[in-house]
Amino acid sequence: MTLPIRPDLQGLEPYGAPQLDVAARLNVNENPYAPPNVVVDAIANHVRRAARTLNRYPDRDFLGLRQDLARYIAAESHVDFVEPRNIWAANGSNEVMLHLHQAFGGPGRTVLSFSPTYSMYPEYARDTLTEFVTVPRREDFTLDVDAAVAAIREHHPVMVIVASPNNPTGTAIAIDDIRALALAAQEVPGGCVVVVDEAYAEFRRWGTPSAASIVPQYPNLAVSRTMSKAFALAGGRLGYLIAHEPLVDALRVVRLPYHLSAVTQATARAALAHHKSLQAQVDEIRAERDDTVDWLRAQGFTVAESDANFVLFGMFEDRERVFRGLLDHGVLIRVTGPEGWLRVSIGTAHEMMMFRSALLEVV
Ligand SMILES: *Cc1c(COP(=O)(O)O)cnc(C)c1O
Repeated sequence: MTLPIRPDLQGLEPYGAPQLDVAARLNVNENPYAPPNVVVDAIANHVRRAARTLNRYPDRDFLGLRQDLARYIAAESHVDFVEPRNIWAANGSNEVMLHLHQAFGGPGRTVLSFSPTYSMYPEYARDTLTEFVTVPRREDFTLDVDAAVAAIREHHPVMVIVASPNNPTGTAIAIDDIRALALAAQEVPGGCVVVVDEAYAEFRRWGTPSAASIVPQYPNLAVSRTMSKAFALAGGRLGYLIAHEPLVDALRVVRLPYHLSAVTQATARAALAHHKSLQAQVDEIRAERDDTVDWLRAQGFTVAESDANFVLFGMFEDRERVFRGLLDHGVLIRVTGPEGWLRVSIGTAHEMMMFRSALLEVV
C-alpha cells in the first residue's frame, strides 16, 4: 500500500538527538538541575487545583499566564512596556516558531536566517512550504550585518530569524545589529518580521542586553523565549514571544483552539512564581560555563565565545571518534556545528569533571 506522503517529505527521518541513559547527558542543552522542592510543590499544588476543572476547556487566551510572563519579562529585561497583549505562548518555543511560519510563511514566501544555526529552522519552513535561505555568519560566528542587509534587500523575506545567543555556537548578537536588521526589514515591500530567538537569554553574560528591551521601538520585531532551559522546565513545554499587539494577533489566528492545556498553564505559572530561586541555578551554570571555556582554552582547544548554557569547541580531525570515545566514558555530547567542532551542554560540577577527564583520555 502507498501512503500519499508529500513528495518533499518522503524518506525523511524525524528530527531529534539520541535520548540515552548515560551518567552525563550533555547533548540537548537541558538544565542539569531538577526543579528544587519548593518549585515541585508549587507545581503539584497548582496542577491539583487545575485538575478540579479539567472537565472544562482551559482559558483559550491564557490571560493569567500572559500576565505572569509579562511581569517576568519586565523584571528580567528591565522593560516596563510589556502587557499581556504583547505576549504569546505555546507548547515550547518550537510551537511559537511554527505559529510564526503559519501566519507569515507559505508558498512563494521566504525566510532568512544565518548559518550555522538551530537545525529546526529549515524544518518549520519545509512544513509550511516556505523557502528557506541562509547567509553565512563570520568566522567568529557573529553576524555579517552588511551581508545580512544585502540579503534582505535581495530576497525580500517575510521573516528574518536570528538566534541570540545562537545555537550551536553560543554567540550573542549585538543590539545594534538587531536594530539594523529590523530597519532593513521595514523596507521590504509587503513587510518583514525579525524574530530574535532568545531561548538562552538568561544565560547571557553581564552587560549583554536582551532584544526585548528594544521591542517597543520596532513593530516588526518579535523576541522568542522559552522556559525549557533557564527554568529547568523542558518537560513542561512552554515557550513564549514578546511583540507588538498586531503581531501577536496574527499568531492568534493560526493557533489551534485551547492549544495550551490547563495543566501546562498551571505548571508554567507555578514555576514563574519562583523565578528568583531558579535564577540561582542559572548563575551556577553560567559560572560553570565560564570555567569550562577557560579550561578548554588552557588545554589548547579552540572555543567559541558563549553566552549560553553550552560551549562549542574543537578543532578535531575526526570529531565522530571523539564523540564516541566520550560516550564510552558515559559522557554524551553533540556532534553539531561546522566540521571539526563539538558541542557540550553545561552540566553540574560533577558532570563537567567527568567530561574533562574523559576528554583528556580520548584526545
Ligand atoms: C532549545 C532551543 C529552543 C527551545 O525549544 P522549546 O520548544 O522551547 O523547548 C528554541 N530555540 C533554540 C535555538 C533552542 O536551542
